[in-house]
Amino acid sequence: MSRKKSSSKEDKFEKYRKAGQVVAKTKEYVRPFVRIGAKLLDICEKTEQSVIKEGGKLAFPCNVSINHIAAHYSSPPGDKTVIKEGDIVKVDIGAHVDGFIADSAFTVNFDPDFDKLVDAAVASCHAAIEAMLPGTNTKDIGKIVESTIKSKGKFKPIKELSGHILEEYALHGPKTIPNVRIPYGTKIEEGEVYAIETFSSTGTGSVHDLPYGYIYRLLPVRTPVRSKGARKIISAVLKEYKTLPFSERWIAKQVKAYKVALNELITKGVFHRYKILSDKKGCKVAQAEETMIVTKDGPKITTSIESD
Ligand code: MN
Ligand code: MN
Repeated sequence: MSRKKSSSKEDKFEKYRKAGQVVAKTKEYVRPFVRIGAKLLDICEKTEQSVIKEGGKLAFPCNVSINHIAAHYSSPPGDKTVIKEGDIVKVDIGAHVDGFIADSAFTVNFDPDFDKLVDAAVASCHAAIEAMLPGTNTKDIGKIVESTIKSKGKFKPIKELSGHILEEYALHGPKTIPNVRIPYGTKIEEGEVYAIETFSSTGTGSVHDLPYGYIYRLLPVRTPVRSKGARKIISAVLKEYKTLPFSERWIAKQVKAYKVALNELITKGVFHRYKILSDKKGCKVAQAEETMIVTKDGPKITTSIESD
């Protein structure tokens, strides 16, 4: 019995590693397409196609968030938005293998005046990862992230956004890794897997919901729905995405009158709609994110290319 248990444990970490390599290769592939004049829709589609091509499944829709938008922007169907000169662009990518997730993001900056802002996000993310050892308290990580970001310039960490534990088919598990000082936290344990993500901002360091969004997730409550379109969407989600976030674009390919049906499912509490998260208009936000396994020998990042 114990033999079976240990082999399935290895299997689990092997799947985390595989998902990480899918994301690492996708980051390399998509980075050259993130340029002035590029359509966000093309970046999203290229990213998502790459995840599939590399042998993963999508853990969430590709996010491409620009300037004061910190997170949760994914192109809606027919999105015409393009990258403009001076933009700062965050690309956030998620893949999974049998529910074991890799989540990683990078920032491309088209205004050299904000290179230090990107540096603040990257340096704080790596400083946090280095400190992710068994027994560390999450509040100590928050302190490291905040002080690293502030040491790079007049920047603030975004306080509502945090790193998060990854669990089977759960993108945001019960433990979070704060980006700011908090009074008390929880202990990090060996064998846990986390997405460490830090955000540096020239704005308020606080995000609010915009009134719209194009990413959804199935909620655990089961409410009966009558309309054919809504039922079709639910069965597609249960089959393809389960409890993981999905894009309006993916649904639009399967159901014609998807807008009405999606709104019905939101109103009935069947789906959650992720609102776009924004700091103050006119500011700039950078993000860095990697997925890592906590081991007694130190952090093992899954989302950078392995040299084997
Ligand atoms: Mn992410
Ligand atoms: Mn994340």
